Amino acid sequence: MTTDLDGLTALVTGGASGIGLATAHLLSERGAQVAVLDLDPSGALPPLRRFNADVCDDRAVRAAVQGAAEALGGIDILVNNAGIGATGTVEDNPDEQWHRVLDVNVLGIVRTTRAALPYLRDSASASVINTCSIAATAGLPQRALYSASKGAVLSLTLAMAADHVREGIRVNCVNPGTVDTPWVGRLLDAAADPAAERAALGARQPTGRLVTAQEVAAAIAYLASPASGSVTGTALAVDGGMAGLRLRPAER
Ligand code: NAD
Repeated sequence: MTTDLDGLTALVTGGASGIGLATAHLLSERGAQVAVLDLDPSGALPPLRRFNADVCDDRAVRAAVQGAAEALGGIDILVNNAGIGATGTVEDNPDEQWHRVLDVNVLGIVRTTRAALPYLRDSASASVINTCSIAATAGLPQRALYSASKGAVLSLTLAMAADHVREGIRVNCVNPGTVDTPWVGRLLDAAADPAAERAALGARQPTGRLVTAQEVAAAIAYLASPASGSVTGTALAVDGGMAGLRLRPAER
């Protein structure tokens, strides 16, 4: 059976857990040869190829990107998904934490993309997809640092799309709402009442539930596919309607 990503190669950062792992699996099912780059890639099993790197370490990123390109025979699709969270208002996070979160969430994309650009330029179907967030476009409480990092990811996505469109490289991002991943599981575990916290996060999305990692992966796979060949410089919300809808309270 021929599928839309047959013959293409993909590298997914943060590809060993959550959204990244679901994306790596889906791209592979759709026919791509897929490698993951992760701090701890052990969660990614064959046929996914694994590369160990911290996106904050430029030398390690360059080595992993080159290793992935050699193992796959190029890079057509780059999914910049590795990211970390932070909670608190603008008063709460020390400078070191600001530097660390911006280093992972923003400069991580810079490092992997610049290392992958020579391979993307050689591709006849090049696509970069950044994992951004609803936090880039809506003010969420207790997310000052995280939101600042994802606002930067949104702007960086647009700038990269402009810079590379004439090289045949498309650049887009996905903006998930709250997604049911190990990351959110850890947040829920830390809450005083995890069940109440899960219900509150679900209720914040007009669909009334958390987004699944598979739903975000499906959006990324669309943006990776030649089917989206005229789509660049966009942010695709996968947020249960959170960014765009204003509902009245439910009728009783
Ligand atoms: P996750 O914690 O389940 O997975 C993140 C993966 O990234 C892990 O495998 C981790 O090892 C890897 N990683 C973290 N720091 C790294 C580093 N410095 N170098 C290399 N790899 C690193 O998280 P997730 O929920 O799947 O989140 C993935 C992305 O989605 C993040 O960019 C996050 O900001 C974004 N996002 C998540 C949600 C959500 O609700 N879960 C919502 C919007 C956006």
